[in-house]
Amino acid sequence: MAAKIIDGKQIAADIRVEIKQEVEKLRQRGIVPGLGVILVGDDPASQSYVTAKERTCEEMGIYSDDNRLPEDVTQQELMALVEKMNNDPKINGILVQLPLPKHLNEAEVLLAIDPDKDVDGFHPMNIGKMVAGEKAFMPCTPHGIIHLLKRSGVKIEGAEVVVVGRSTIVGKPIANMLIQKNDSGNATVTVCHTRTKNLADHTRRADIIIAAAGRPNTITADMVKEGVVVIDVGVNRVEDATKKRGYRLAGDVDFEAVKEKASLITPVPGGVGPMTISMLMFNTMESAKAAAKAKA
Ligand code: NAP
Repeated sequence: MAAKIIDGKQIAADIRVEIKQEVEKLRQRGIVPGLGVILVGDDPASQSYVTAKERTCEEMGIYSDDNRLPEDVTQQELMALVEKMNNDPKINGILVQLPLPKHLNEAEVLLAIDPDKDVDGFHPMNIGKMVAGEKAFMPCTPHGIIHLLKRSGVKIEGAEVVVVGRSTIVGKPIANMLIQKNDSGNATVTVCHTRTKNLADHTRRADIIIAAAGRPNTITADMVKEGVVVIDVGVNRVEDATKKRGYRLAGDVDFEAVKEKASLITPVPGGVGPMTISMLMFNTMESAKAAAKAKA
């Protein structure tokens, strides 16, 4: 069976159309969602992520307050800016682009963000609420994965899901979302990592595999069953002399071989990646709605 490709670009674009419409409705009520963005230093990858986020805000009609700070900014200065945004009614979401330079205390900065403006969903308060099954900001990449599955008609309830990776930003939250007793959950989830004894023993019985290891070819065709749904979160640079820049982007899955056995599969790029920014916009819009409701 050759798999149907899950078109993340299209699904992300559909979500953006919906967000834009919602933002327009809010604008008619005098509410403009706002995102405060903080980028420290000049790492090219972080700069291009932040530029993409700012561009998407503009497209959506979301106000964006961009703050690009020098590499040598102090912890105090950074904390003061977070505090200013916490108190700014025009800002509904605060995004601190990670990783921060080594001299800064990342955990302290994330903890300082008002949980009601934590649109990245990294504050312990939101993580705790998510685990408890309460309403919370969902971290953007795993939330995007849930949308990819649901909008592709994948039945999550009762499915055997194997998550490869246990990071705080992908593996742990997606596993948690999928075990919740709600219409995005009710799956039976196994989480694998580098100490898992035989990864293939787990992946072979999976109805859905979520690969977030950050290593190319972690999932090969012999490790999956016929008809599996594969979500490839990995973004890896693989040397490729045929490319001008000397490399190409690849996921964690041997895409060409696995797609012959899978029923549905995400490509890299063009799968999970485009969803992340859409979900950030979604969280910012939801935050603006909640703030307006609290004020009314
Ligand atoms: P991470 O923090 O490096 O975590 C990787 C996880 O995978 C770890 O838990 C590690 O296990 C596990 N792992 C690594 N190699 C493995 C193997 N051979 N077998 C089983 N488990 C293995 O990475 P991350 O931040 O979660 O990101 C994962 C990938 O997703 C990266 O390629 C990243 O670039 C990509 N990503 C993409 C997006 C997007 O928007 N598309 C967003 C976030 C991340 P241990 O815990 O035992 O070390």
